[in-house]
Amino acid sequence: MKSGDPNKVVLIDHTSNEVIPNKILLEWSISLAKYLKSQGYTQKEDVIAIVSPNTWKYYVVLNAGLFLGIPMNALNPIYNKEEFKHCFSITKPTIIFASVVCLKTLENYRRHTDNSIKEIILLEDVIDDNFKNICYISQQNSIYDDYILEKVDPKKQTALILLSSGTSGLPKAVALTHYNIRHSMEYLMHPDFVGLDEKSVSLVVLPMFHIFGLLISFTCMTTQSKSIFLTQFKPDIYLKAIEEHKVTNLFLVPSLLLFLAKTPLLQNYNMDSVTNIFCGAAPAGKELELCVKKRFRNAEIKQIYGVTELAGAVTMTTKTTTSKHGSVGVPVPGTIIKIIDLDTKKVLPLGKKGEVCIKSPGCMKGYVANDLETRNSFDDDEFLKTGDLGYFDEDGVLFIVDRLKEVIKYKGFQVSPAELEDLLKKLDGVMDVGVVGKPDERSGELPVAFVVKAPECDITEETLINYVADNLSAYKGLHGGVIFVDKLPKNSTGKLLRRELIDQLKI
Ligand code: AMP
Repeated sequence: MKSGDPNKVVLIDHTSNEVIPNKILLEWSISLAKYLKSQGYTQKEDVIAIVSPNTWKYYVVLNAGLFLGIPMNALNPIYNKEEFKHCFSITKPTIIFASVVCLKTLENYRRHTDNSIKEIILLEDVIDDNFKNICYISQQNSIYDDYILEKVDPKKQTALILLSSGTSGLPKAVALTHYNIRHSMEYLMHPDFVGLDEKSVSLVVLPMFHIFGLLISFTCMTTQSKSIFLTQFKPDIYLKAIEEHKVTNLFLVPSLLLFLAKTPLLQNYNMDSVTNIFCGAAPAGKELELCVKKRFRNAEIKQIYGVTELAGAVTMTTKTTTSKHGSVGVPVPGTIIKIIDLDTKKVLPLGKKGEVCIKSPGCMKGYVANDLETRNSFDDDEFLKTGDLGYFDEDGVLFIVDRLKEVIKYKGFQVSPAELEDLLKKLDGVMDVGVVGKPDERSGELPVAFVVKAPECDITEETLINYVADNLSAYKGLHGGVIFVDKLPKNSTGKLLRRELIDQLKI
């Protein structure tokens, strides 16, 4: 880590206007590490859970956990009691750092379930006789000259436990080592890839319990670059934060890219400071990318293809590949990718579509307490089977076409929901769209589009069906029709929950 100017501001909470210099972040982190050690928390026996929306104190807990080498399990704060029960039964935390907004649910879980939790510490500065809070702890022991980091074995010891997205089943707990995280931070600093450095100003609205948000946060801290973060996304506040702090880097998921492509609010703000827009976690098509490019005159739009099990990015658009719109770029350093034929399991040449399989220094230690799933997720050559369908073009640039399980089979033809969604999003009146297959006795599955219309737009089902028919081969038509909805079900990183759409078709 760069030692840096102690007074340099590294974190700004745009919502609460808290401005945090290096010195405070380090003092609080060390005080917390000292407290945890004094209470007997150790690498071998303990797991720290963090359950909170984004706040600068999240960084304090992350640092303290890393200093001590205690594994940390970051979780979605909006989970309900049953979801916490499922996750905690796997990760078995002994101490939880929680926001008051999740306290009721956590206490409910703690009271009614057998568990390993020794204490809950609040992240907010609130007075409650039943709980310590991080502000109080961090104001003790603030002299840190003598602090020595605990030793860890970087390739063996777990640094983070993150939940896989679970869009098609219950989430699994992915154990990532210190070495995995270090690998990801290297390409985030590499000038040909993300290139974070002390001059960067990044706007972080991605949740810190997801690998994407976490890695950006870690790397901003390490490179002494400035992070502006928001607890939650609000259109005006987001755009105002960009203008006010002269943000250079935006890190987004496709639903936010869609917002930038369509919002009329953009004209009220100056976006000239933005030089890089990084989008990852789910597919963003070529049309969406081009639309945003037109609205941000100084910015390159770069896609990141990432997988939690591989500690983040696997490929990225680079300076030399930005013209390949809709691609996810080239492998980040140290990563080997092969495309496998679905039937023969043989490696396919450039241009041929198959399953994307990956070997990388970011590759997880395994799923916690699930050896069977860990074994099943690798092939015989120890490549992780991603379940994504993709191909390399003649220049070695990767295109992700779809998720294997999500491809619709219409009369034996493969129809890609992503291709239809990308096309439909081009239409002015379409705010968002999700396409799924509706089971059909004669044809196997019929593509159905769930469409969110722009306010006061009178676009009809017929217009959409004809538009698809005019632009794609007949078998890719919307043979199952169109359903207009107010909103699409998505998880916290903007991944469409297709299962929920398919369930709606059964009603
Ligand atoms: P998670 O580990 O929850 O982030 O999910 C990883 C999955 O998200 C990948 O296997 C892909 O299916 C999808 N994904 C991530 N980034 C992209 C991208 N840039 N384009 C298409 N799909 C993506």
